[in-house]
Amino acid sequence: MKVLVPVKRVVDYNVKVRVKADGSGIETANLKMSMNPFDELAVEEAIRLQEAGRVETIIAVSIGTPACQETLRTALAMGADRALLVAAETELQPLDVAKVLKAVVAQETPELVIMGKQAIDDDCNQTGQMLAALLGWGQGTFACAVALAESSVTVTREVDGGNQTVRLKLPAVVTADLRLNEPRYIKLPNIMKAKQKPLQRLTLQELGVEIRPRIKTLRVAEPAPRRTGVKVASVAELVDKLRNEARVL
Ligand code: AMP
Repeated sequence: MKVLVPVKRVVDYNVKVRVKADGSGIETANLKMSMNPFDELAVEEAIRLQEAGRVETIIAVSIGTPACQETLRTALAMGADRALLVAAETELQPLDVAKVLKAVVAQETPELVIMGKQAIDDDCNQTGQMLAALLGWGQGTFACAVALAESSVTVTREVDGGNQTVRLKLPAVVTADLRLNEPRYIKLPNIMKAKQKPLQRLTLQELGVEIRPRIKTLRVAEPAPRRTGVKVASVAELVDKLRNEARVL
C-alpha cells in the first residue's frame, strides 16, 4: 500500500513572528523554517505503519518554493521513501492545495493520505477535509490513533469531551492531531541517506491545476497587549469585581 504525506514548510514553532510594518503579513526574512509540526506527526505515523508491515511506500509531497526541498529532505531522513515537490511561487490557500493534492493522488494512486490537521502558519484546518471531499473519500480528522487493516482504517478522533472511533473504507484521508505519536529524532546517517533518495519536481501545469485565490488578507495585526492582572484579597472581592467590573456574572 502507498501512503501520501503532504508536508508544509512553515515558520518554526519556536520563532516569535513579527508583523510587517504595512500590516500585509508577517516578516519571514531570515526566520528559521521547519516542517509543520502536525505534518511531522503524519510522517511518523506513516513510518510506524510501514514498520508494522502495513505500508510499502511512503511518498512525501510539498507544494511551494524550491526551499520546500529542505522540508522534503527532512521527511526523507525521517523515513519517507521518495518525495515530490510541486513548484508554486505564491502562498496557496487550502482549496488550491487540496486541488493540487487531488491531482497528485490521481498520479500516485495512494490508498491513504495522512496529513497534519492544520498548518501552524495559517491555522486553517481545512485542507484535509477539502481533499477528502474533492476525492469523495472518507475522512478521519484529529486522529490520536490509527489502525490500518486490509481494506479499512480505524481512526480514533479527539473530539470535545472524549474520543470517537470511526472506521473508514480505504482509500481515505486521515489528519493528525497532537497526541497521535511522538516523532523520532533524525539520526545523522539518515540525513546522509536522505540525500540519495528520489525527489521529483512537478509543475502545476503538468498536474493540470490552475490556482485561483479566493480569500484576500485585508490586514494582519499584533494581538492587543494583555493588561496586567491584579491580586484580590478575598473571594468576596473577586465576585464583586466579576459582577461589577467585568460584568460576567
Ligand atoms: P491547513 O488546512 O492550511 O491548516 O493545512 C492542513 C494540512 O494541509 C497541513 O498540515 C499539511 O499537511 C497540508 N498542507 C497545507 N499546505 C500545504 C503545502 N503547501 N504543501 C504540502 N502540504 C500542505
